Amino acid sequence: MNPWAAKIREGDARALARAATGVENRDPLALEVLRELAPFTGSARIIGITGPPGAGKSTLVDALAAAIRRQGKTVAIVAVDPSSRVSGGSILGDRIRMQRHHGDPGVFIRSMATRGAVGGLARATEDLVRLMDAAGKDFVVIETVGTGQDEVEIAGLAQVTVVVLVPGMGDDVQALKAGIMEIADIFVVNKADQPGADRVERELRAMLSLGDSDRPGPAIVRTVATEGTGAEELLEAVEHAPKPTEKQGRRTRRDGGCPGPPHIRIDHLGIAVKSLQEALGFYESLGLQAASRESVAAEKVLVAMLPAGESRLELLEPSAPDSPIAKFLEKRGPGLHHVALRVPDLNAAVERLRASGARLLNEPRPGAGGHLYVFIHPASTGGVLMELIQESET
Ligand code: ZN
Repeated sequence: MNPWAAKIREGDARALARAATGVENRDPLALEVLRELAPFTGSARIIGITGPPGAGKSTLVDALAAAIRRQGKTVAIVAVDPSSRVSGGSILGDRIRMQRHHGDPGVFIRSMATRGAVGGLARATEDLVRLMDAAGKDFVVIETVGTGQDEVEIAGLAQVTVVVLVPGMGDDVQALKAGIMEIADIFVVNKADQPGADRVERELRAMLSLGDSDRPGPAIVRTVATEGTGAEELLEAVEHAPKPTEKQGRRTRRDGGCPGPPHIRIDHLGIAVKSLQEALGFYESLGLQAASRESVAAEKVLVAMLPAGESRLELLEPSAPDSPIAKFLEKRGPGLHHVALRVPDLNAAVERLRASGARLLNEPRPGAGGHLYVFIHPASTGGVLMELIQESET
């Protein structure tokens, strides 16, 4: 085993910290360590803690960490702030925490600020969580700050998701993002010693009673995190929450394999060729075989799909002089025409891309296989035409 990976397995905190930094920076050596450690993941209980700003999440996480330590177990805290451009706030939060858990080797703390790319933060977080899992931590707590799609995505990495609410939110129980409500396994009413705590709990129960009554609903736990009150009850609720395999039809955690962003993968690479027949000669002598050949009238192309590992190569030959592929061949010559990524929710991806100013070439529309797809202009993607495809249900 790589000596760096071996040190992490032995519980060397400095080796772990160095790997965490490397993983966050996508350092190839650190990612290699992560790959070596992949067989050792799967033992940690992974808890996601989320909720609106001001709900006292950090204090609650500290109280939960203390409860975990009282059981003699170890914990890693990964604090993620999708809304921050710089990590100033996170670093300050770290310092306060470091003081509280100072000198306790059973608590590992790491903060991450936002990454530029969509999915980048979720991916770095997932890798960091797996690193902590492989390092032998009994619990990994992911604490997210801020709101939005990132938060839902990151919370989705957890086996148990805790949504923290506080009194004085007005009608906000109703106003909470539907996505956040759906992922909750446990609701915490924090600052439960303040007026209005009963009302928040009542509203929660009313809302939950509208749900599927065949299934046990999320637990509700009241806490006063500043005093540590309710932390043991929260830990108990975490231990009794359904395992991911019991959450049928919900999210599944991506297991093993190479580090990568959650739920996004390369579906195929599109290659423009002058002649399918000629190109196929090469690919077949390489050992690849066309799984399907078809003519797509709307795009005026002949298509051959060649499965290659988990993705495919899509050879494209123009079937008419005014085909987009004919124009591409004229302008650029044969070669890589587009990269196609498969995403879990195309409409959500499109919404985020629009908000970030990306140039979409069409509205999401059904393609040959019936799945939705959209093209993005090379000006937005770093120079290559990109196709996004809706992940199919099966
Ligand atoms: Zn394609």
